[in-house]
Amino acid sequence: MRSLKLTGFRVVMVFVLLCFAGMASAQSTLYGFNMVQQDNVMLHFDLNSTAVSPELFSLADPHRLVIDLPRTQLDTQLPSEQFSQGVVKGIRYAQHDDAYLRVVLDLRRAVSPSYNIVPRQGGQRLVIDLGVRGNPAIAAPSARPQVQMPLRDAIVAIDAGHGGKDPGAVGQRKTLEKDITLAVAKRLNALLEARPGIKPVLIRNTDVFVDLRMRMEIARRAGADLFVSIHADAINRNDAKGSSVYTLSVDGATSEAAAWLAKSENQSAALYGDVALDGMDDILRQTLLNLAQSSTLERSMEAGADILSELKQIGDVHKRSVEQASFAVLKAPDIPSVLVETAFISNRQEEKKLNSARYQQTLAEAIERGVARYLVRRAPEGTHLAAERRRNAGTAE
Ligand SMILES: [Zn+2]
Repeated sequence: MRSLKLTGFRVVMVFVLLCFAGMASAQSTLYGFNMVQQDNVMLHFDLNSTAVSPELFSLADPHRLVIDLPRTQLDTQLPSEQFSQGVVKGIRYAQHDDAYLRVVLDLRRAVSPSYNIVPRQGGQRLVIDLGVRGNPAIAAPSARPQVQMPLRDAIVAIDAGHGGKDPGAVGQRKTLEKDITLAVAKRLNALLEARPGIKPVLIRNTDVFVDLRMRMEIARRAGADLFVSIHADAINRNDAKGSSVYTLSVDGATSEAAAWLAKSENQSAALYGDVALDGMDDILRQTLLNLAQSSTLERSMEAGADILSELKQIGDVHKRSVEQASFAVLKAPDIPSVLVETAFISNRQEEKKLNSARYQQTLAEAIERGVARYLVRRAPEGTHLAAERRRNAGTAE
């Protein structure tokens, strides 16, 4: 909807900056590894940084445990042989540039992993307890019967911005925001589906118009624990670039740009026959005030910060911290909600990147890591994630 002109010099500068942004370097090195059998089978990862918190997730058919170490570079030998006995069959790894090191354990059966971080001189030792006795004879899966409470998955509503008659912003190469948001949303959906304990729900999965109230309604009916709205906006400044993450502000936008952006997103809604929420009525205002006292906004900020910190690892961010603006789509008083502006479609280089499957996937992966990190830490009661968190806390002593 808005187009803008970049001078040649600025194009070069933006390009140079984007190149630098792609080179964000790893902050930690994995310099030692050991697999030990004390009571349980334990893995030791020695790191030269204190800032690494791993992400663990299990996969079945065949059983695997995936250990992601963010911003970590491998600088040691991991065992490459296949183990003929014991729960671990073999160890593989993949270096995902500087973003993370992924270690995959091929397992003979399911494990109940937990981890503990032990500070050491100049870094930390990450101790992963597989929750399985070192002696395979004792470690039958039925050895620990449990009263099974009905647990549920944590639910993430993924909202691909715009759609149908509402194209959203339009890039200089005529890229439509609604197509980019849907592509990223679908990739995010696929990634989250692979996460045990998390169930994603797409607000729209085709090129259709869904009004903002309906978007929130769909999320609420799905029982969403988190609402993530994906956008790729344009702004009337030719040097604007990078990702931004927004949550709802109570007293309006915290920056002029945020105000402008909120206006443009809401305008888009008004233009295409959506409910206008600009003239906020007293009841809504009161709801927002109550909301401020509740934890929803705080949770939204936390989720936003987790997502933004992952986006910082893959490229430029427009602002270093989560911004607050008055986006209508975030006005669900009961569901923590964030709005991700993936990049500026108005920036020629970013428009090009947004069109590449590779970059869409990179964005989706970063958002997914942020969402998962938030949900694991703030696991809603009654979910598999909450139960797992408690188990881990219990075994971390
Ligand atoms: Zn948008």
